[in-house]
Amino acid sequence: MPEKQAIAFLGLGHMGGPMAVNLVKGGYAVAGFDVVPAALDAAREHGIPVSAGAAETVSGADVVLTMFPSGQHVLDAYLGTGGQPGLLAAAAPGTMFLDCSTINVDEAREAARLAIDAGHRAVDAPVSGGVVGAEAGTLTFMVGGGPEDFEAVRPLLEVMGKRVVHCGGHGAGQAAKICNNLILGASMIAVSEAFVLGEKLGLSHQALFDVASAASGQCWALTTNCPVPGPVPTSPANRDYQPGFAGALMAKDLKLAVNALRGTGVAARVGPLAAEIYDMFAAEGGAARDFSAIITDIRDKSAARDGAGNKPAGSAGSAPGTASNKATPNAAQDDGSPE
Ligand code: NAD
Repeated sequence: MPEKQAIAFLGLGHMGGPMAVNLVKGGYAVAGFDVVPAALDAAREHGIPVSAGAAETVSGADVVLTMFPSGQHVLDAYLGTGGQPGLLAAAAPGTMFLDCSTINVDEAREAARLAIDAGHRAVDAPVSGGVVGAEAGTLTFMVGGGPEDFEAVRPLLEVMGKRVVHCGGHGAGQAAKICNNLILGASMIAVSEAFVLGEKLGLSHQALFDVASAASGQCWALTTNCPVPGPVPTSPANRDYQPGFAGALMAKDLKLAVNALRGTGVAARVGPLAAEIYDMFAAEGGAARDFSAIITDIRDKSAARDGAGNKPAGSAGSAPGTASNKATPNAAQDDGSPE
């Protein structure tokens, strides 16, 4: 491959748009495409050369980079839909298919297999760092693929990110991403429950932070993305939980983690529960808020109870068994029910 490959960049959304801008700034020849005209207009305004169609975008490309919402989008685009040829058929033999979307591990392996069967090369490279990291070129890439393919894409990933980690073979990038986010989602719930418990026990946020951040409760959810305002001035809690990392994305990533937990037979309990909690959080207004706003949900639902599981006098909350209480699956198990 030449030192600076020609890149077809498909999926110019919140993440893909700024990532493509950084590739253009880095001296790469980029041809962008998105199925949504507004995304194409925005890309043009930001100096990304765009093509009229997917097939045009990939012809002449050394690398086909996709940044799509889901695995189904990736597989459909690779194979084509509605009788239209897909990207795999439109690309020249030996093209590198680099998928940076966050998708199921199985789908990533399937996408790589399809690309290789069609005579191409393939790498999965999901990211962390969000839109801020995409704009600043400070993303972390978790890469799955063979060592030579990893080395071939490493320089262009380094233009868009500050950290590029080779995690193993096809699908290993996705595996690393969902394992990390399983830890993150579960730890944020635990940290948030601990702060709400501290509130009920008369412990100040700062006191709990000072102890736990220097003790065995220390974790990123506490020390960087602290869910209460004050102890970490840069955490989203200090700006009314503007993301950050949106609740909808945490819900999505935990669903992918649960699919993998089920598919591999892991005897997991915390992961599926965390997925259920974030699914409900996203559905009940948390989708666009930072995922640390889960604490407000826990606090609101806790306001309806006292230590005996009863409704406190004057509380606006609801008694056990009402819709409000049923809203949190774990809460329903804590309220003294026969279970
Ligand atoms: P987005 O919805 O803003 O962008 C996706 C874009 O892909 C859309 O503009 C859509 O029109 C386009 N698209 C879909 N199918 C297409 C096709 N066949 N051809 C061309 N374009 C197509 O989503 P996003 O926030 O940019 O996220 C993209 C991926 O990155 C997701 O998998 C997400 O989970 C992951 N991710 C997002 C963030 C974040 O903070 N937004 C952080 C880490 C990872």
